[in-house]
Amino acid sequence: MDPLSPSEQALHAARALVLADLVAGDVAEADVVSLVEESVVHRRWWVEQWPEGAEFLAGLVAQDVQDALLERYGRWPLCPVCGSGDPHALDVEPELGPDPHWVCPKAGVKVAALGSLGAPGGAAPPA
Ligand SMILES: [Zn+2]
Repeated sequence: MDPLSPSEQALHAARALVLADLVAGDVAEADVVSLVEESVVHRRWWVEQWPEGAEFLAGLVAQDVQDALLERYGRWPLCPVCGSGDPHALDVEPELGPDPHWVCPKAGVKVAALGSLGAPGGAAPPA
């Protein structure tokens, strides 16, 4: 078997990170996971056109899934930092860059690295 190409490795990593955050938010149902797969298929085509973009894949897949969830389910992931006011979703920053993080656009704070919403020391809301 051939080793995975760097862009394919990046796609696998992106899928794993986004799935980890979906699990942390208790939204990793079968149809939600299929949204991640749709994004991965689309981004596989995208990175073939632009291999230099491989390190941006995780942030892009996260944003694709956010957009798809917003249409079908609602905001994700909800901000765990702000205790009051309207519930709001976290944003991915940078939108197009390496090392993506979830940030709260209201408080302007980094909440967690992508894939770490449910990690010990992360900022997952109490169950
Ligand atoms: Zn917030």
